[in-house]
Amino acid sequence: MDGRKVVAWAARDTTGFLSPYSYTLRKTGSEDVVFKVLFCGIDHTDLHQMRNEIHSTNYPLVPGHEVVGEVVELGSEVKKFKIGDIVGVGCLVGSCGECLSCKSSMEQYCDSRVLTYNDIYKDGSSTQGGFSSAMTVHQRFLIRIPENLAPEQVAPLLCAGVTAYSPLKQFQESNKVFKAGILGLGGVSHLAVLIAKAMGHHVTVISSSDKKKEEALEDLGADAFLLSSSATEMEEAANSLDYILDTVPAVHHLHSYLSLLKVDGKLILVGVAPKPLQFDSVDLILGKKTITGSFIGSMEEMQEILEFWANKGLTSMIEIVNIEYVNKAFERMERNDVRYRFVLDVAGSNLE
Ligand code: NAP
Ligand code: ZN
Repeated sequence: MDGRKVVAWAARDTTGFLSPYSYTLRKTGSEDVVFKVLFCGIDHTDLHQMRNEIHSTNYPLVPGHEVVGEVVELGSEVKKFKIGDIVGVGCLVGSCGECLSCKSSMEQYCDSRVLTYNDIYKDGSSTQGGFSSAMTVHQRFLIRIPENLAPEQVAPLLCAGVTAYSPLKQFQESNKVFKAGILGLGGVSHLAVLIAKAMGHHVTVISSSDKKKEEALEDLGADAFLLSSSATEMEEAANSLDYILDTVPAVHHLHSYLSLLKVDGKLILVGVAPKPLQFDSVDLILGKKTITGSFIGSMEEMQEILEFWANKGLTSMIEIVNIEYVNKAFERMERNDVRYRFVLDVAGSNLE
């Protein structure tokens, strides 16, 4: 017998337009947890996937990988959770469990990882995301949400938050005040500003316009703001940063950003550019600089970021919307008109 029938919103083709879609969850396995979706964050990656901009999208596609829900059913072997628990799932719902990445708590780099949507689960079924009334997820890929955190606040931490936290962690264990650059002020990076500040770094926001300057400095607490289109400002800031977290979701030449780094500085790419990026080899050679990348975070780091968030008393800037607003939300995200993360109130949208 199959699992329960759910109502979701799916993209059907490369326009990425979302509309209601009904499908059946897999039969609940012994280690599966079924949960009713409460909230789901909207990530720019959803848009890349809905439009088939990164790797082949299988339609219908139900996006959503910042999902918080309430447990409604448990497989026979599930001991970690009980009915009514508030749980979260990010970008991963499976991995091999055997490889070096899996064994070193870096399952996000497992070659057999299973993504929350647009992937094939080990039983051959297509994975579908959190723009849905309910989901079924193996207990190993679920996070327990601490009671002192509001579920709508937690949703963006499950992808955007951990994507910022995981690479920034390496700059945490020292008394040095790191000079951080956060490039592109959007969903991922507004959390990166809060996290880097909470780690004690000196934070410069690097943005394509000055529209977000006041918010960056006053609401998010950044120490400095740099307008990337101003040659004078960029020149004055040359050789000043230890690292830059680059979240830009578009093609951009790296030369001017690399020039901001000190000797031995790191440019950490997390933004996904749909086409190859350019830089000159001397940009790296003449400063022993590194370009590196980072993909979400591990299950362990997801739990860690929630604790970090609660301990530091941080609050993200979110706009909560109903699922009927989802296409409009993507349109606004695309024209850079969100402060700073949309979160869908899935349970409040009465999908079923
Ligand atoms: P977002 O909310 O749309 O933010 C991106 C920001 O980049 C914008 O707010 C804007 O900031 C800047 N920007 C946008 N278009 C630009 C352009 N053409 N040129 C220069 N700057 C531009 O997106 P997000 O949800 O934070 O995601 C950011 C990127 O990270 C996406 O590519 C997403 O796929 C990727 N991502 C990667 C991971 C990972 O594991 N590596 C995880 C999550 C997301 P300003 O207005 O300040 O310029
Ligand atoms: Zn593995």
